Amino acid sequence: MMDNFIFPGLTTRVVFGAGTLSRTPEEVRRLGHAKVLVLSTPHQKADGEKLAEILGGLATGIFAGATMHTPVEVTEVAIEAFRASGASAVVNLGGGSTTGLGKAIAIRTGADQLVIPTTYAGSEMTDILGETAAGEKTTRRSPDVRPETVIYDVDLTLSLPVELTVTSAMNAIAHAMEALYAPDRNPVIELMCKDAMVSFHHDIPRLIEDPRNHAARAKALYAAWCCSTALGHVSMALHHKLAHVFGGSFGTPHAETHAVLLPYTTAINEQAVPDLLRPIADTFGGGSAGGGLWDFAKSIGCPTSLRAMDIQEADLDRATAIAVKNAYTNPRAIEPGSIRELLQAAWEGRRPEG
Ligand code: NAD
Repeated sequence: MMDNFIFPGLTTRVVFGAGTLSRTPEEVRRLGHAKVLVLSTPHQKADGEKLAEILGGLATGIFAGATMHTPVEVTEVAIEAFRASGASAVVNLGGGSTTGLGKAIAIRTGADQLVIPTTYAGSEMTDILGETAAGEKTTRRSPDVRPETVIYDVDLTLSLPVELTVTSAMNAIAHAMEALYAPDRNPVIELMCKDAMVSFHHDIPRLIEDPRNHAARAKALYAAWCCSTALGHVSMALHHKLAHVFGGSFGTPHAETHAVLLPYTTAINEQAVPDLLRPIADTFGGGSAGGGLWDFAKSIGCPTSLRAMDIQEADLDRATAIAVKNAYTNPRAIEPGSIRELLQAAWEGRRPEG
């Protein structure tokens, strides 16, 4: 039990279930909008078009150009489309890339956002926007980017490929892991994180056997909501910093990067706060939080080394230098030697010592 805490409250309305996509028109009207622009990636354009059909006269059209890491050039084109359409809100259907584009439009235009997430990445409940300009990714937090409404429709996740199901779940677990030791953590977020880890541990193996297992998809999407809420309401530390270094400066894929780094960042902080990370070992087994997550990653076929993501051993010194450049709070003190050792183990894919 924590002696002192602040619970900031949750401001985003959440509609969760199966077939909830059909409720989008009433949710748009509930926010007072008569015209919305639908956003998607090129890959999910057909889903975006289906949503536009469901929205009928409320939809002004679809912008299907969302892409990873929210490049500002794409945002500028999308804003032109948004303004030309006369819409006053965006409906973001997809993973973190589409949600990111919606947030980038919202912060520049004041548009409201309804998000319909289709991965477990967890951008939908957060006040965080990451954007790329001239090859550099920067992140900011602002209440203006937090979506007004999130509609979780389990049916939309049935098509999530197994590889992305697995890495996206590890991406979500990373939010929960860092929330457990966040200086601004609170008991509500802690409960959500623990529950999410139990769900992922139980249901991801079932989804590998059968990606269309509806009950397991529902539990995994529920877990993703919990982890997204954690990401959006408490501070993140070393793990998210390192994921950002590799995604931003070495171009590694988002979910895989989180998945590979997670056992190692967990293990290093477990040395400083073993009690706070004990729920992870209790859930995943393996005798330690870092070891348990590594075993789980291996068992679900997740990539477990930076080498497998085409990172060269020679890049690890530069990655260390970027990671330690600015000061930030972390349970274990950030110093180049231990970060370089962590990256070496992650590059080789060695099971972290418990
Ligand atoms: P993504 O959104 O790029 O999706 C990956 C691919 O999978 C895309 O082609 C997408 O169209 C497709 N896809 C998504 N859902 C699908 C489904 N159900 N069925 C079939 N295909 C599907 O990947 P992501 O991992 O969800 O998001 C990564 C991005 O999100 C990164 O840019 C990251 O920085 C950002 N992100 C931001 C936050 C935040 O709080 N700001 C949080 C998490 C992630």
